[in-house]
Amino acid sequence: MIRITDIRERTISLRSDIRNSWISFEEMDTSLVAVISNVIRDGRPVVGYGFASNGRYAQGGILRARLIPRLLGTSPDELADSSGDNLDPERVWSAAMRNEKPGGHGERSVAMGALDMAVWDLVAKIQEQPLFRVLAGRYGKEPPDERVFVYAAGGYYAPGKSNDALADEMRHYLDLGYTHVKMKIGGAGLNEDMDRLEAVVNAVGSADRVAVDANARLDEPAAMAYADALGPFGLFWFEEAGDPLDFELQRTLAERYPGRLATGENLFSVMDVRNLLRYGGMRPDLDVVQVDPSLSYGVVEYLRILHALEELGWSPRSCIPHGGHQLTLHVAAALHLGGNESYPSVFEPIGGVADGRSVVDGYVGLDEEPGIGIERKGKLWTLCQELSC
Ligand code: MG
Repeated sequence: MIRITDIRERTISLRSDIRNSWISFEEMDTSLVAVISNVIRDGRPVVGYGFASNGRYAQGGILRARLIPRLLGTSPDELADSSGDNLDPERVWSAAMRNEKPGGHGERSVAMGALDMAVWDLVAKIQEQPLFRVLAGRYGKEPPDERVFVYAAGGYYAPGKSNDALADEMRHYLDLGYTHVKMKIGGAGLNEDMDRLEAVVNAVGSADRVAVDANARLDEPAAMAYADALGPFGLFWFEEAGDPLDFELQRTLAERYPGRLATGENLFSVMDVRNLLRYGGMRPDLDVVQVDPSLSYGVVEYLRILHALEELGWSPRSCIPHGGHQLTLHVAAALHLGGNESYPSVFEPIGGVADGRSVVDGYVGLDEEPGIGIERKGKLWTLCQELSC
């Protein structure tokens, strides 16, 4: 019978001097989680690893006080699948979330997301398959996509950063193999942001390959002013104009702005997503849903979110998750999403794909390493080994 012998967590730094319109990343960190099993391969226990994406900080308190003790206190047969040889991630999820009321998701969803990622990494390693093949096999999306669309998210504000430097950054992303880029807006005045946008569009050569992200900074009048100024560009998309839970603002924006809108990275539950689609004026044939499974209770909840999307007439291809990490890459390939965010050289050590793997014409392939492939990311793997030794 499979048994979890220990669960460890630690906080790791994601600090940098960049900022978006709301926050600086100088204090940013995340939780790294190791789920250690009694399954022995090559003389060592099989261990699953997870982390809590970026943007919401480490969640050690909730992990240590509630989620981890619940799992370690649950009998192994209540966490195992029908074979008894592997964990059932949905049963693990239910055990960790025992005695948690619905709603009020806060950052409990981030703690659960990190733990759930480690459980899926472990389950796939025990099956000796990469996670995207495990998910595709279980959830009927065979064959998985062999490569995933990725776009380069950057264009942050930084001290002394000129428009020339911003344009150089975007040209660098094209040189790396990306076809589409994203930049921040809403952290400067409208005129300054339009100058920055023109510099980026000139560098990329085409506005329909440039997305902009206001990180929820704009109130309704400002959102409408930006919508009017951005509309004529014909951008790739306009992301998170206003507060993530202001569905009325989003609906008004959709009536005003003719192009593609994107939002959802700060929605953490199936019910929040359902409400966005019911009341936010989002258009299934045009707009993009960016929920990040690692911030929103993990893959188990993300499967519920995809089910809700399909019930409301949306294709999973409309989903391009936030986060730029390996879990979302596997989920995107397995469940036929529209792509994945990518942050070239930002949010190390958790961001990005396997070391040495490159982007070609805006797409990236996946490795056949069992699990999520954290072992193929040198700096992250070193931290994981420190945690599980
Ligand atoms: Mg964003």
